[in-house]
Amino acid sequence: MSKMKCNYCEKILSDDADLVLNYFHHIEINHYNSLDNEDKMMHDIRKKMLQSKKDYELKKKNVGDSDLTFNAKNSEI
Ligand SMILES: [Zn+2]
Repeated sequence: MSKMKCNYCEKILSDDADLVLNYFHHIEINHYNSLDNEDKMMHDIRKKMLQSKKDYELKKKNVGDSDLTFNAKNSEI
């Protein structure tokens, strides 16, 4: 079980479906405008990665380890 607290508010995101996607969408909806330029850039890169990952999964139905990398990176901030 993993949980992640939002870096920008007090919301706790739980791993009920897809934590990375939940968090990503939460940021996109609630905090995108308050990200600084660097974080916006990272967010946009992630968006592309998630999109291509989604495309990949649709074809392969295979989960890579990019989620783990994403989580480890975020929990340190
Ligand atoms: Zn938040």
